[in-house]
Amino acid sequence: MKKISLLIPVYNEEETLYSLFNEVSIVIKNLLTYDFEILFVDDGSADKSLSIIKELHRKDSRVNYISFSRNFGKETAMIAGFDYVSGDAVIVMDADLQDPPNLIPDMIKYWEEGYDDVYAKRRTREGETWLKRYTSHAFYKILQKLTQIPIQEDTGDFRLLDRSAIESLKMMREKQRYTKGMFSWIGFSKKEILFDRRPRQAGSTKWNYMKLFNLALEGVTSFTTFPLRIASIIGIIVSIFSIIYMLIILIKSLIWKDPVQGYPSMMVTILFLGGVQLVSLGIIGEYVGRIFNETKHRPLYIITEYNNKKIYDGGKM
Ligand code: UDP
Ligand code: MG
Repeated sequence: MKKISLLIPVYNEEETLYSLFNEVSIVIKNLLTYDFEILFVDDGSADKSLSIIKELHRKDSRVNYISFSRNFGKETAMIAGFDYVSGDAVIVMDADLQDPPNLIPDMIKYWEEGYDDVYAKRRTREGETWLKRYTSHAFYKILQKLTQIPIQEDTGDFRLLDRSAIESLKMMREKQRYTKGMFSWIGFSKKEILFDRRPRQAGSTKWNYMKLFNLALEGVTSFTTFPLRIASIIGIIVSIFSIIYMLIILIKSLIWKDPVQGYPSMMVTILFLGGVQLVSLGIIGEYVGRIFNETKHRPLYIITEYNNKKIYDGGKM
């Protein structure tokens, strides 16, 4: 019998875990021809999430869990999950019931038809402000242009991945992860299904604009070095203009004996160039920072517990 793993990253979701488990159980009860595993990754929750997961594990042998030594973030929780799932396919879903479990049968159906990556695309973005919608749309457009890898818009991490895709993702061990880009990067045959994303059932989102901005930066800097090129291009353009301007000033003062004047123009030039230089330095710094983080060769995560067993696992390096 084929086995399907549900991978659910959990960070402080005590309010939704029971209803999530109930909804999932109802859906998978009808899928008699498959074995299921539900792998919870407790991402260092500070509330009762872990004890609820343990209770579910006691009651239902399909429930497995790993627990982190601290909060590492959802991206890391996902790679740890990929390392630990045992299924022939994995379905990644959020713990807050925003990803409706009733899409699971459809995903499996397409998987059986031969697709390796069946992803759920949001038809609507209910419960989100227009600002979030707009910024997200703009971000995808930019990322798309810069990376030249087709990145699916309005798509989260809710998807089914075949074992071959999981193994490919497991080979990507970078520390600063932008998993959504990786799903695109690895390729494989993809199938889109549309769904209406529900608002969060309970609790609150762990995202704020600062975190989203950082993720966006992550997305760009981990998939393309194009910003470095923008810095060079701006440098070249500015240099060309400065040479022209320099010639104009030289000619004016040498031929027309026009005395030096122009504190304002000097100030503007200095400030403008200073700004361009700082931005360029910042861009370079982003990449140097990434090199720094990768060269430390730290483990991606630290797992302290697997199904009631105390373990210390930092994963493959
Ligand atoms: N999550 C996690 N670690 C974190 C933040 C979030 O494992 O540091 C999990 C969270 O429990 C949920 C999923 O990632 O299952 C999505 O989080 P959230 O609902 O806050 O994000 P949103 O749906 O608003 O994008
Ligand atoms: Mg959510």
